[in-house]
Amino acid sequence: MKKIKMTTPLVEMDGDEMTRVLWQIIKDELLLPFVDLKTEYYDLGLPEREKTRDQVTIDSANATKKYGVAVKCATITPNKQRVEEYGLTEMWKSPNGTIRAMLDGTVFRAPILIDTIKPAVRNWEAPITIARHAYGDIYKATEFRVPTEGVAELVFTDRAGAELFRQPVYDFECPGVLQGSYNKDSSIRSFAHACFNYALSTKQDLWFSTKDTISKQYDQTFKLIFQEIYDNDYKEKFETAGIEYFYTLIDDAVARVIRSKGGFIWACKNYDGDVMSDMVSTAFGSLAMMTSVLVSPDGKYEYEAAHGTVTRHYYRYLKGENTSTNPMATIYAWSGALRKRGELDGLADLVDFADKLEAACIDTLMDGIMTKDLVGLVVPGTKTTAVNSKDFILAIRERLTAKLA
Ligand code: NAP
Ligand code: MG
Repeated sequence: MKKIKMTTPLVEMDGDEMTRVLWQIIKDELLLPFVDLKTEYYDLGLPEREKTRDQVTIDSANATKKYGVAVKCATITPNKQRVEEYGLTEMWKSPNGTIRAMLDGTVFRAPILIDTIKPAVRNWEAPITIARHAYGDIYKATEFRVPTEGVAELVFTDRAGAELFRQPVYDFECPGVLQGSYNKDSSIRSFAHACFNYALSTKQDLWFSTKDTISKQYDQTFKLIFQEIYDNDYKEKFETAGIEYFYTLIDDAVARVIRSKGGFIWACKNYDGDVMSDMVSTAFGSLAMMTSVLVSPDGKYEYEAAHGTVTRHYYRYLKGENTSTNPMATIYAWSGALRKRGELDGLADLVDFADKLEAACIDTLMDGIMTKDLVGLVVPGTKTTAVNSKDFILAIRERLTAKLA
């Protein structure tokens, strides 16, 4: 078989633990036999981040800016226990956080659906993609535990030293709590552009919701910026693509989401997105079936699985056990990145390969061959065979080979 050619390299970001093991099997069995794979490789595994003092993460983000498309394996975000486990000289920051900040990106998470796993919400027929504004609000807030009676004020002073705003927040008659949070127009704008672009690139409606009725400056600003950018830059493009932008109050959005058939993007403020993405992914079935893509406002893409490095399975793997870790979301990170590369470079063969790889994955699951985590989720009466990760990938390879023949 002639291998499919690539022109521009993909930025490949390797990772840690069980997902690093799967990464290699996926490449060996599902990619290298079929594609003349061109990647610029960055090892974001924790030992290499330690060795390079995390420079490798920065280099990989810069390469993503340069080439436009990256695929990332899950990585460990070090905590105290990891510092000991890996003998780290520093508690390196989350690579995802670093890359997201450098690309000024928005994360879109969408579930992979199959007919034999029914969402908890029965009327959901198509994926709901959550876009979370991963900047500011309570995640960058200044907090104070108020110990005693006293006045809290909100004060703003401009660079010239002029006080533009001073207003009491609350006159405390007893101990309490206080929080100051902020966001920036520039970040909200980037978020809006990423959302509108992603809606166009995936041909899905975009919903956006905030609590603007209560938060008349803060949330209202989000609403107004989205509307202004939509009217100026995207309205015509949306109409041509036959998709819609729809703003509604978050309370109303929640009700509509539950009653909907799915098949749209739901843009959320930081906290809403954090919570709602966990709820939506659980309702769709499994974290192991959740894909994730970071999109920058100027259209750079980084694809990955939403789950972590599956540490518990890795420790079993190290003891010589054959684990049944689900590689679906990691395979879809590759297919998503290859498809996008193919689209950008006008390589129909590569796009077709990505489609067939995903179809082979779905066929395998529909034939009842799956990893253990999915067995308990399928509709009663479905015939299933639980296999380990390697055998699952080999079953996909068999079907992929047939499709490409
Ligand atoms: P996790 O790796 O997502 O795994 C949590 C549990 O979910 C697993 O123990 C497993 O449950 C189940 N699970 C997740 N993915 C699965 C898969 N593909 N197949 C089968 N089961 C799967 O989360 P974590 O254990 O909290 O975090 C582990 C490490 O990953 C941490 O060091 C964290 O920093 C990192 N992390 C990285 C990213 C990222 O790079 N994007 C995201 C999140 C976490 P059972 O054990 O019950 O089978
Ligand atoms: Mg969360």
